[in-house]
Amino acid sequence: MTGSEKLPTRNLAPIFPGFDSDEYKAAKAKVSSLAAQALECFEASMFAIESEDTATWLKQALAFNEELGILIETLSAYTYARFSTATRDPAAMAELNSVEELQLPAKKADILFKNALAIRKDAVEAALVSDSALAPFAFHLREEIFFQSRQMSPELEDLAEDLGRSGADAWSRLQESVSSNASAVWDEATGARKTVIELRNLAFDQDRSVREKAFNLELSVWKSVEIPMAAALNGVKGSTNALNSRRGWKDALEKSTTQARISAATLDALISAMESSLPMWRRYLKAKARALSLPALAFYDLFAPVEKQGQPLPTFSWEDARGFIRDKFSSFDPAMGVFALKAFDSNWIDAQPREGKVGGAYCTDFPMAKTARVLCNFDGSFSSVSTVAHELGHAWHHECILGQPYALTQYPMTLAETASIFAVTIVSESALAQASQAERLPLIEMHLQDGCQVIVDILSRFYFEKAVFGERLSNELGPDKLSALMLDAQTRTYGDGLDPEKRHPYMWAVKGHYYIPSLSYYNFPYAFGQLFGLGLYERYKSEGPGFALTYRQLLGQTGSASAVEVTRGAGFDIEKPEFWLSALSVFERQMMEFENLVTEVLGR
Ligand SMILES: [Zn+2]
Repeated sequence: MTGSEKLPTRNLAPIFPGFDSDEYKAAKAKVSSLAAQALECFEASMFAIESEDTATWLKQALAFNEELGILIETLSAYTYARFSTATRDPAAMAELNSVEELQLPAKKADILFKNALAIRKDAVEAALVSDSALAPFAFHLREEIFFQSRQMSPELEDLAEDLGRSGADAWSRLQESVSSNASAVWDEATGARKTVIELRNLAFDQDRSVREKAFNLELSVWKSVEIPMAAALNGVKGSTNALNSRRGWKDALEKSTTQARISAATLDALISAMESSLPMWRRYLKAKARALSLPALAFYDLFAPVEKQGQPLPTFSWEDARGFIRDKFSSFDPAMGVFALKAFDSNWIDAQPREGKVGGAYCTDFPMAKTARVLCNFDGSFSSVSTVAHELGHAWHHECILGQPYALTQYPMTLAETASIFAVTIVSESALAQASQAERLPLIEMHLQDGCQVIVDILSRFYFEKAVFGERLSNELGPDKLSALMLDAQTRTYGDGLDPEKRHPYMWAVKGHYYIPSLSYYNFPYAFGQLFGLGLYERYKSEGPGFALTYRQLLGQTGSASAVEVTRGAGFDIEKPEFWLSALSVFERQMMEFENLVTEVLGR
């Protein structure tokens, strides 16, 4: 890449000209006045249930929710977008908080709406059948009613909310602050320290002794804070179990699959396909050990780079990335190529790394302006080109769902990563097709490395979390017990692919996901998204260009029905392991090629 001065920053002016603009102030004022009207309307309607016409009431409620949803999402996305490129800007910080505050009356109105909906559920059901204007909202409204049926009485929910702030939420914050402040001495001579985040980033280092030192220090840091971390995990999981049982859920897993809009049969099919792929992943890990000239792989070798000495990967200028992504997207769907070009040429992408800007990448949409923006930190590597493709995949998803009412644009985590994975697969498959043998080695390894995390590591997290929820019903779990459960989960998944003496007993302290009170089993939706994206790609390969339209329609429906129905509409049966196995076959082919490349390119 040639100098970061050519990299674009993002143009947010079409969304709002600025915090001081009339447009921005008017949007905020509108939220306040609409929320007040909605509150008044829903409060009054609680006393008029018998006399009111349900279809009319529903239409009015949906109109409030539509307008408030669009305004609030746009304002939140805008303030966060401003903050994320200027994290030390006091104005961005102040507006971020102000918009959060602004939402409180709307949230209160939403609770009233859901209560009223549940009380009228029979009348709502009748209105859904008799009024065709309401039919598109059937799934959405039935889902709201179902979640409402899994609530305690309003007084108890209120108490739970109050206690949560000093209970489960406080345990969650404890994990956050302990882990973000934990550090160890890295350099004995100078006393310089590294945080656990910095230590964990060294897992990507070329030098094994650096990786090993960082890993051992990281474990010693976790050991020193294991007592508060275990207390925090017991607090979160214990209160989750207690609330789930009072709310009528069978267990945390039932709630998570419902939130992910999948059936128990879908989860079983997905997990069993992941399990049946484990021998293949262990072969990959053994081949990686061979590539690194090691007898067996340690946990700290999982992210080690594999490439031929003196064979650096090609780099990309921003212009190259633009042309490459446009071409690859166009070869799948010309409309998607035109869309990518528009994103590049209208400054939708903030690519320039700079002081005060957050790391990583994200895509966010602004429903009021009917547009999206991407943030990334472009460094010219192939991996940052695929990050841009990933985020533009999300933006294309947004583009395809734009025509729907706001309530039907909200899709679950399981379907959120589908479009991004699919976009990355289009780009990386054609990069592979063009690469020389020596270039293929690191490209394929990177893909397998990611896949191994999404399939093998996520399966270990699933086993671990399930075991913790089960044990927590009757016991408090000490740090030794948690580490033993983690090691057991790693044995069941990584198996003989990793050196049994060099696994990571403290992954339960590393991953903040286990400590989120409102969302358990955070990880399997990612395995779903990864494999569903690959499954779509397999289908595209067999069906050819005609698939582009099916794909657009599928994305457009992701907020309108359960994942099972959405995907069935496009001809997939995700309740059968066969579908997931076909997606996994992409990895299987790459694993076999990787084994050969280790011999042919590296001579090992
Ligand atoms: Zn994503």
